[in-house]
Amino acid sequence: MPKYMRLTKQKKLILDVLRRTKAHPAADWIFEQARKEIPSLSLSTVYRNLNLLKKTGEIQELNYLGTFSCFDGNPKRHYHFLCEKCKCVYDFDFPSQHHLEEEANKCSRMKVTGHCLFFYGLCDKCSE
Ligand SMILES: [Zn+2]
Ligand SMILES: [Zn+2]
Repeated sequence: MPKYMRLTKQKKLILDVLRRTKAHPAADWIFEQARKEIPSLSLSTVYRNLNLLKKTGEIQELNYLGTFSCFDGNPKRHYHFLCEKCKCVYDFDFPSQHHLEEEANKCSRMKVTGHCLFFYGLCDKCSE
């Protein structure tokens, strides 16, 4: 099999793994899942493909103040909630705050092109 075919297959699998889950997993979790289907897969291949998918806008990487990174198979802009107890990242249904960028542009000479908003606290399971 030509090399690019293999790469495409691995990339597709990684994307599938990510789109099948509602959780926002870290690269090593994606690696564990994908390895069940392609046992020869290496972690560096997973990282490389995650970066490719990120570049083409098919997935996004979430960074929480640089303390961890996890991946989201949903490339659309949406907000997230981090539970400080179980460390799960959830999708958070909250209206888009595009006006924040306009307001920020008015307040500063910086050219604001985006913003990042992360909610945190206790998820419903942990606050019971
Ligand atoms: Zn929790
Ligand atoms: Zn998400």
